[in-house]
Amino acid sequence: MKKVTVIGAGTMGNGIAQVFAMNGHHVHLVDVVQEALSNAMATITKNLSRMVVKGKITEEVKTATLANIITFTDMAAAACEAEIVVEAATENIGLKTKIFRQIDEVAPAGTILATNTSSISITKIAAATSRPENIIGMHFMNPVPVMKLVEVIRGYSTSDEVTSEVMELSRQLGKVPVEVNDYPGFVANRILMPMINEAIYSLFESVAGVEEIDTVMKLGMAHPMGPLQLADFIGLDVCLAILQVLHEGFGNPKYAPCPLLVNLVAAGKMGVKSGEGFYLHRRDVNNLEVAPNFRR
Ligand code: NAD
Repeated sequence: MKKVTVIGAGTMGNGIAQVFAMNGHHVHLVDVVQEALSNAMATITKNLSRMVVKGKITEEVKTATLANIITFTDMAAAACEAEIVVEAATENIGLKTKIFRQIDEVAPAGTILATNTSSISITKIAAATSRPENIIGMHFMNPVPVMKLVEVIRGYSTSDEVTSEVMELSRQLGKVPVEVNDYPGFVANRILMPMINEAIYSLFESVAGVEEIDTVMKLGMAHPMGPLQLADFIGLDVCLAILQVLHEGFGNPKYAPCPLLVNLVAAGKMGVKSGEGFYLHRRDVNNLEVAPNFRR
């Protein structure tokens, strides 16, 4: 069992912490915002309780999982004994390189430093450290406890040993790892984000409404969720950040984010995490409701 440090306790960080802890690893979960840590622990507890009710895990497993997670606001304290670090902080290259520079100073020499980035170059992040061979992408999907895929991204200098170890660790977590190379958006978001952006353009150009666009993709393409609902779920700020990386990385206008997405993020409408995006996301309401700005 490994000592794992998860950096960032938001949407992805809490799911990653839960999955490692459920598999017996000792998790240090760190965030700069104390409230993010309390929310993460509340989310993990709620997820585990739901699994107990459904008979998927026992009460003992729930207790043991929670006991495997300790929260921190001090990154150096959280990472000084880590065997693997999984960074899941906000999607911003300046922030991520700063975090990796800091972890590089405090984590033991052999520690693998993984990032859950959706699109930022692993090679650029690695260049901020003194151990580029130990830097790798470990891209979990949302929601982490449910989704099977881990996209394992090799940077320019990532070693074969580190890649094999992360592939094996992902399998131990019950996931299916897929190895890919380090180009903007990797595979998952290079394909997914242009589709989401096109759905937003369809709304922006009044080709159809929110529900109509999502229904076409759900019933017509057998997608479990429409692209606009999925964008809300991922976080509109995260979608915008990924599209900007694709746009800048390939220099191709086809990746330019739709102005409507840019406006929504500027207005603080981030989707599920802020309570509003293309839909309203109220905790007490089960049925999805289109956000007021998009009602026809
Ligand atoms: P989020 O906004 O929900 O959470 C980010 C967290 O990072 C916040 O709690 C924030 O306080 C914390 N943070 C910021 N700076 C920090 C620092 N210096 N040290 C520690 N914590 C810090 O974001 P998210 O959706 O969980 O995304 C996290 C990462 O995962 C991003 O790189 C994103 O691209 C990637 N990702 C997101 C999804 C998704 O569906 N949301 C899917 C796959 C990968």
